[in-house]
Amino acid sequence: MSNRKIFIYAENDCGAIENSYFELLSKAAALNVKLTELEGAPAQLCAVTVGELGEDSLNSLVESGTDVVYSITDESLTVYNPAVYSEAVAQLCKLEEPYIFLFASTAMGTELAPSLGVKLHTGVSAHCVDLRFDDSGAFIQDVPAFGGKVIGEILTPDTLPQIATVKPGIFQCECLAAKSAEVKKFSPSLDSTVLDGIVLKDVHVKDRDSLPVEQAETIICGGFGMGCDENWEVLDRIANYFENSAVGCTRPALDEDWTDDDGTMIGTSGKTVRPKLYIGAGISGAMHHVCGISDAEFIVSINKDENADIFNVSDIKIVGDAVKILTAFEERLVQE
Ligand SMILES: Cc1cc2nc3c(=O)[nH]c(=O)nc-3n(C[C@H](O)[C@H](O)[C@H](O)COP(=O)(O)OP(=O)(O)OC[C@H]3O[C@@H](n4cnc5c(N)ncnc54)[C@H](O)[C@@H]3O)c2cc1C
Repeated sequence: MSNRKIFIYAENDCGAIENSYFELLSKAAALNVKLTELEGAPAQLCAVTVGELGEDSLNSLVESGTDVVYSITDESLTVYNPAVYSEAVAQLCKLEEPYIFLFASTAMGTELAPSLGVKLHTGVSAHCVDLRFDDSGAFIQDVPAFGGKVIGEILTPDTLPQIATVKPGIFQCECLAAKSAEVKKFSPSLDSTVLDGIVLKDVHVKDRDSLPVEQAETIICGGFGMGCDENWEVLDRIANYFENSAVGCTRPALDEDWTDDDGTMIGTSGKTVRPKLYIGAGISGAMHHVCGISDAEFIVSINKDENADIFNVSDIKIVGDAVKILTAFEERLVQE
């Protein structure tokens, strides 16, 4: 094992580990294969988690295929606060000097990664769609631009760690060889000045009943063509007929508040999904949305405009009013 370390941020969601950690770890393991080829030894894969974890969650990290689990705990880290969390993680980085640090582009990751970059005076590549080493050992971070039409290769050759964020769903979870990671506790030194005037007033825990879109096998996705709040409800009802399903949305539908879950937006600034079945209703097929569904196995689209771009990427095209067609579909599902 070389003395290089690849850190992967394991997001602690109320004591449970976010799935994005396992996706990033799978990619880190693949990067390690190339690193071994280049340097003769793999890097250490290290999970980094902040705040107390339940026993099951800690065990899932220990057995995830990583070499080390850094568990950062302190009483001021009980509730997520970006100023305190980034300071705690920065202190660990100064001590352990990771070579690469991977975060998911979640609400938390997109806040922590750049804060850490500032504290450590290093670069951050946000919303990467791929990560790789070239034959010279340079760590290349692919970042889409212009709605995915151009992929930029970002390198951070002069400063460490090389920090990258990746949208959940981009990498697939692989089953890594079982091993039991060493757990290293880290207690940062956090005084009240770190809070920098930020006062925590209240905590709202989001209702997490529904399956995250990136894990769903069937996605019923609504766009601006759904028309209004009341029409939106048919999407939820239809989703309930499918196992492992979720309702997704486009940016305009989210902006209209037809759904309040920004975690269900699909596309460049939302999630990348891989369902077996994607049903899109009232969606134009803009590049920013379509790039998030390019790995869907089967796409059914409903649009009243027969020339809508979404039809260019659809397996079944239904021209007509989305709400009428979905309502008829629901009636059929009820009968069967
Ligand atoms: C930097 C950037 C990032 C972005 N990221 C994202 C992203 O991550 N995800 C995302 O979704 N968007 C994103 N967008 C916005 C994106 O460019 C499009 O504006 C958006 O995807 C369009 O959403 P839509 O298809 O729901 O709406 P529209 O483009 O308004 O399309 C509505 C469609 O509904 C059809 N329609 C209307 N009425 C009916 C009806 N009764 N029945 C059937 N069909 C009907 C219309 O024919 C039309 O095709 C981003 C934009 C930018 C600039």
